[in-house]
Amino acid sequence: MPILLFAEHDNNSLADQTARTLTAACAIGGEIDILVAGQNAQAVADEAARLAGVRRVLLAEDEALMERLAEPTAALIVSLAGDYDTIIAPAGSAGKSVLPRVAALLDVMQVSEAIAVVAPDTFKRPIYAGNAVQTVQAMDATKVVTVRTAAFAAATSTDTAAPIVAVSAGEGPGKTRFVENRFAATDRPELASAKIVVSGGRALGSEEKFRETILPLADKMGAAVGASRAAVDAGYAPNDWQVGQTGKVVAPDLYVACGISGAIQHLAGMKDAKVIVAINKDADAPIFQVADYGLVGDLFELVPEFERAL
Ligand code: FAD
Repeated sequence: MPILLFAEHDNNSLADQTARTLTAACAIGGEIDILVAGQNAQAVADEAARLAGVRRVLLAEDEALMERLAEPTAALIVSLAGDYDTIIAPAGSAGKSVLPRVAALLDVMQVSEAIAVVAPDTFKRPIYAGNAVQTVQAMDATKVVTVRTAAFAAATSTDTAAPIVAVSAGEGPGKTRFVENRFAATDRPELASAKIVVSGGRALGSEEKFRETILPLADKMGAAVGASRAAVDAGYAPNDWQVGQTGKVVAPDLYVACGISGAIQHLAGMKDAKVIVAINKDADAPIFQVADYGLVGDLFELVPEFERAL
């Protein structure tokens, strides 16, 4: 049952999500090849080759693959798909954009955001914003699966490297062209993969208060900053800080929710955190139902006190 794992990376280093997806691939069972599609991505291929359990790494390099645009990358994967029973990828930005296209071109269904492997063709996945878990069996000859990486530990690296094989990027449909990436400059850890996240909600009341109250605590803890949708919609925090069903899904070691009520749509994005701390003045706020530690009181007093105590 050969498996093709589509790697997430930035052309310089392999994202941790790839090693986590490898653990899911190992649970499916079979020989696993990792596809590194990119440009000047030899270092990524070298890293992938040292992951335990990899048969070989396929390295496809082309300008069109540099940003892993959906059209050329999907065409590449489809050209390789005949050799594989399963095509798997982390449910990150590349996997979410490329794999649905692969599934459509192969005319098969996709299993999205798997959180457990029950059998080689059967997976568990969250539905209804994480409020229920569905078990699905993929009946197609080729299984196309994205993985919610927070649910899997990262595969380890070994000293022995698997062979790296160059594969042709192919022609590609040439329908899209990469123009530019714009990143918000920040020294803070990336929200989606941060070990600690400090988030603020509507209770902060203004952008100034949000920054004055939440950022010093986040900086002290070396944490990424998150926000509820209410805080983002009110303009207290930028869009890319939103955590939840329609924001980012995070699974840090520690999540500190300040003035966030704990609506199901917010919980969908953070309830897999290992330890949850909630600060809220309402002792009945639903966030306390998922919190490991709760502080009931005014966040404008408790957050600075918390920060000073660290
Ligand atoms: P509120 O619910 O207003 O809660 C504010 C909390 O702050 C209250 O619990 C209050 O007791 C507390 N508080 C007030 N003042 C203080 C103080 N001084 N000190 C301490 N505590 C205080 N939401 C998300 O977050 N992420 C999403 O991705 C998301 N997606 C959505 C998708 C859909 C389709 C829909 C319908 C909704 C979505 N929402 C999402 C919105 C969600 O339903 C909630 O409205 C939102 O999460 C509420 O944000 P909040 O907790 O900051 O605000």
